Amino acid sequence: MAAFDVIVVGVGGMGSAAIAHLASRGLRVLGIEQFDIGHARGSSHGITRIIRLAYFEHPSYVPLLRRAYELWRDLEAGRDEPLLHITGGLDVGWPGSEVFEGALRSCLLHDLPHEVLDARELTRRFPAWHPAPNVQAVFQPEAGFLTPERCIEAHVAHALQRGATVHTNERVLAIEPHAGRVVIRTDRGEYEAGQVVVSGGPWMGDLAPTLAPLLVPERQVLGWFDITESSPFAPNAFPVFILDADEGRYYGFPEYGVPGFKIGKYHHRYETVHPDTMDRTCHPDDERVLRDAVSRYFPAANGTVSASAACLFTNTPDEHFIIDRAPEAPEVLLVSPCSGHGFKFASVIGEIVADLVETGATSQDIDLFRLDRFPRVLR
Ligand SMILES: Cc1cc2nc3c(=O)[nH]c(=O)nc-3n(C[C@H](O)[C@H](O)[C@H](O)COP(=O)(O)OP(=O)(O)OC[C@H]3O[C@@H](n4cnc5c(N)ncnc54)[C@H](O)[C@@H]3O)c2cc1C
Repeated sequence: MAAFDVIVVGVGGMGSAAIAHLASRGLRVLGIEQFDIGHARGSSHGITRIIRLAYFEHPSYVPLLRRAYELWRDLEAGRDEPLLHITGGLDVGWPGSEVFEGALRSCLLHDLPHEVLDARELTRRFPAWHPAPNVQAVFQPEAGFLTPERCIEAHVAHALQRGATVHTNERVLAIEPHAGRVVIRTDRGEYEAGQVVVSGGPWMGDLAPTLAPLLVPERQVLGWFDITESSPFAPNAFPVFILDADEGRYYGFPEYGVPGFKIGKYHHRYETVHPDTMDRTCHPDDERVLRDAVSRYFPAANGTVSASAACLFTNTPDEHFIIDRAPEAPEVLLVSPCSGHGFKFASVIGEIVADLVETGATSQDIDLFRLDRFPRVLR
């Protein structure tokens, strides 16, 4: 049986970063991925992912984000194409809304450069916007987007250059901890390691069944809408955004990579699914959810849907991440359930994983991600 210091199960957003950082520390690393690298069946495809500092979800994410930005910049150094594109970011909502107030709170607490815009100023600065008259926006100039498929490829290339082994199209069937070692059984063989990192994204519930109630996969749909006039949606004229609106919470991007205006809605149609059987077709009901916001707030993009993608969130009950040792198996590190907002952190999560595997501790504050915040499930 081949033996490694550490095996990473799932080489997607988090797993690719983990193998890169683990291999950089000189550890013998095996990454096992059930599909190809950069595939479109998990949580990390769709050309773009928002990265932002004005974190409405909780101010304690901001120090992690500062480190994530540094590590993304390190990763893209020497590459032909950028991985991180800065466009500025808008967090928009009515006064009192979670997005607007939370983003403002993070800016004030962490002294982030920002401006507060009213609806009129929002349209004047960014003419694609037709917001409701009562909204306010936090503009934070350091926000932008990452190109997730390219980021994963870059992390995997980095890991391979540093001696990691990566197996693709191989499915992990069992993770068996035995007194300080872990045996991994796959559809192709068996491997042994001192520690295992489980970063299975929407399949986490299958890989850690006792924790499945904390790891709920949910279907999401992204749409690219044809635009009548592209200039207001160009990356230098249209910041990435999060919008709390009457219709729900939306997020969107400037035109990049695929023609059209890309928009999604958090939790989309609230459909709990299994990733093996999820419906990946975009139906008229899916389009309607997105068009409700496009037609009202971005009328210059109210054209036909030229492309779409189905993707998966993996939601924890409080929508904060899980990065912790498995209960009763300290050799197994569970990493992810990123509840629809994790990709931007992959670079720093990879570094945190390497810290935890190598030394058992990290200087980053990851208390928010502990499993014991769910005592009822752990009981
Ligand atoms: C539509 C959508 C929009 C989003 N927008 C943003 C955004 O703008 N900004 C942001 O920061 N985040 C965003 N997110 C969230 C972010 O993309 C995810 O948190 C992140 O990609 C999760 O990465 P992961 O590594 O956990 O999962 P994945 O990238 O899916 O990786 C898990 C991997 O494990 C593999 N695997 C699973 N089981 C096995 C097994 N048994 N054997 C071998 N391999 C296995 C899978 O094949 C997969 O490759 C969005 C998510 C979605 C779906």
